Amino acid sequence: MSQKIAQVIVDVPTMQTDKPFSYLISKELATLIQIGMRVHVPFGRGNRLMQGFVVGFEVEVSQESTGQELKSIAEVLDFEPVLNAEQLALADAMRETVFSYKISILKAMLPNLLNSSYDKVLTTEDESIFKQYFNGNQALHFSSLDESEQAVMMKLHREGKISVQYVAQSKETIKTKKRLTLADKQKLDELPISARAKKRLALQTFLQEQNHVAQSIWDYTDLVKAFSREVVKFFVSEGVLSLTEIEVSRAQAYFETVASDEHKVLNSEQAAAYEAIIDRQDKPFLLEGVTGSGKTEVYLQVIAHMIEQGKTAIMLVPEISLTPLMTNRFIARFGEHVAIMHSGLSDGEKYDEWRKIKSGKAKVVVGARSAIFAPLHNIGAIIIDEEHETSYKQDSNPRYHARDVAIWRAQYHGAALVLGSATPSLETRARAQKNVYQLLHLTQRANNQAEIPEVRILDMRKHLNDKSASFSEVLLDKISEKIAKREQVVLMLNRRGYSSFIMCRDCGFVPECPNCDISLTLHMDTKTLNCHYCGHTTGIPHTCPNCQSKKIRYYGSGTQKVEEELSELLPEARILRMDVDTTKKKGAHERILSSFGAGEADILLGTQMIAKGLDFPNVTLVGVINADTALNLPDFRSSERTFQLLTQVAGRAGRADKKGEVLIQTFNPEHYAIRLAQAQDYEDFYQLEMDFRRKLNYPPYFYTVQLVISHQDEDEVVKKSYEIMALLKANLSEQARILGPIPKPIARTHNLYHYQLLIKYRFEANLAQALNQVLDLTQVPENKKLRIIIDNEPQNF
Ligand code: ADP
Ligand code: ZN
Ligand code: ZN
Repeated sequence: MSQKIAQVIVDVPTMQTDKPFSYLISKELATLIQIGMRVHVPFGRGNRLMQGFVVGFEVEVSQESTGQELKSIAEVLDFEPVLNAEQLALADAMRETVFSYKISILKAMLPNLLNSSYDKVLTTEDESIFKQYFNGNQALHFSSLDESEQAVMMKLHREGKISVQYVAQSKETIKTKKRLTLADKQKLDELPISARAKKRLALQTFLQEQNHVAQSIWDYTDLVKAFSREVVKFFVSEGVLSLTEIEVSRAQAYFETVASDEHKVLNSEQAAAYEAIIDRQDKPFLLEGVTGSGKTEVYLQVIAHMIEQGKTAIMLVPEISLTPLMTNRFIARFGEHVAIMHSGLSDGEKYDEWRKIKSGKAKVVVGARSAIFAPLHNIGAIIIDEEHETSYKQDSNPRYHARDVAIWRAQYHGAALVLGSATPSLETRARAQKNVYQLLHLTQRANNQAEIPEVRILDMRKHLNDKSASFSEVLLDKISEKIAKREQVVLMLNRRGYSSFIMCRDCGFVPECPNCDISLTLHMDTKTLNCHYCGHTTGIPHTCPNCQSKKIRYYGSGTQKVEEELSELLPEARILRMDVDTTKKKGAHERILSSFGAGEADILLGTQMIAKGLDFPNVTLVGVINADTALNLPDFRSSERTFQLLTQVAGRAGRADKKGEVLIQTFNPEHYAIRLAQAQDYEDFYQLEMDFRRKLNYPPYFYTVQLVISHQDEDEVVKKSYEIMALLKANLSEQARILGPIPKPIARTHNLYHYQLLIKYRFEANLAQALNQVLDLTQVPENKKLRIIIDNEPQNF
């Protein structure tokens, strides 16, 4: 007898492989099962049920000929495939550049709810353990932990300190509403009810009256509230009313408040860009234009055009820009055709939006990174706004870049791909320079009234203030002046790289690595300065090696401290603070911005997240408290990041009729990133930065791969790191440079030691194969406790 066999990629956290497993399909399931569906299969010696994806079928073979006894699929979880052919092909393609197992890629394409039908709940009675690891709770979902935390839990489990329970999740995959309809009018009228059953009589009269005014559908909960559950049930059991469940969507409230919005008449540059895009050639576009030059208007009209052609579109924006302001612009143009995807939605809401897309109801998907996987058909345009933002790269497995996925999908659909930015990433701009992308320019502000603000640089070496660690007199005076005029002030504190480097307060000197041209990172635990690229280590100097000043010390303070300082200096000022701490709660980000917009505060003080929300007509001063911090990060992209951020902030001040001013405090006034941000001169910045990258063999001239190797035992992690380096050396050419192994900046977290290797290369035919070999090391039994992360083109170091 021959039987059909399914190939299933099984989601086993402890044992991963891209190889599908074969499972028999029973006669009952044979008619249901399709490629792209989720199934439950028995796995391992214990035959525990695990979730998996059907990725193919084998030609029917007789079981005798295979010689092995196959297990059978236990359950088919879907009525229709959750992954389509395009997505399965995309997963294959992604697997060539993303070095984590295929299952992680497949899961990334789906809303969370569909990936978690089984979860492990960890419980413990050991008080010290739940205090230390469980945030004080007694139970913990395994799936909510990151890889290293999971490793810790597995260890505790082996030691018998915690127990594990398997639970079915996602009971609430669909939100429904029960409603009642009149089944039989005659039965209603003739229903025998005793005169003493007051409530039954009341419901009978109610239904009869309501039915007169042509209503015959009632909300179940409403009727139960008014007449009791018992009485309603009686009418159902007598066949008078029938009870049905309808589905309600959870994420629709936002459509109600938005006014409609008309297309603007495009100016000549916008029109040229629009024409080029809809006439699309076979290459992506880079739409380069300063903030306010009308890029979004171009996106909206391109999308409108595609919808007219019966096509669909994806609009990606950085998570932080998914403000109501932004989404409302899309809803105003495209109404119910829009689906919104962002991290503020609950799992249930995300699932609803996903199904709205899959069913074809949504034509335009506006969302953050993961929206690039939206299961739209017939895509006409994919647009990535602020394409230089690092949030487009996922920093957990699978470590994909949305831009790469977009390129693949645009090709698959023959869709136009538009990358938009005022300050494109060097990688993107270099491709445009080589004509791999077509460059489109918007050089003027679309809204003529808004003047470009005046940007001043304050050399903090000359403006040291005895009264304040963070503010120069000039900035303080300026703030007071604006408040006196009842205008508003935005102050930005650059939090990246906080207190992690040291600087001379007299001359601005920051110690750098002699080998790498990268500032050294301060490690307070070991009292050393370390290079994160090559491992160079020195002690902390007590005097400045450059000017012998004693004022060399670590630099930086948190937003909260700056807020305290500011309210001491300007006791009258009303200050709003916006940072990770004040925006933790859902909707807090919007509340702070709208409160500031309503004039409830004079000063908005925040981290770089405020740069994206800056669109307040009454803001006439933007102050950057510390332009240097990002500059001194041990990251070769630190100049690029600083330039991008300052340009963005500067471009945002003075949006309306009042002229804006920008004051940038810095200890490095001559630094090209700061000078050129002041001038808003992307061109010159690009040239200088490319020069630097070429000299030091960084992207876009070289490609990079970072490997992070982790283990509980430091000797073991060092040993394995050297083994991996040897394996890479044996497989790669002489041209490839392998830096490290060195400890990660935070060398030990969650009881694991982390070491890193950095590969820099131009062309390596064997690289993918070598990296997969490294990845597979984690699956060897003796390496059970070894963790390896492979990050292709890392964005953060
Ligand atoms: P960007 O996305 O480049 O920051 P926007 O598309 O948001 O620019 O445009 C900035 C402002 O100019 C918005 O208020 C927008 O409505 C307006 N605008 C854009 N294009 C035009 C146009 N062709 N005519 C008039 N106003 C425009
Ligand atoms: Zn000095
Ligand atoms: Zn170095």
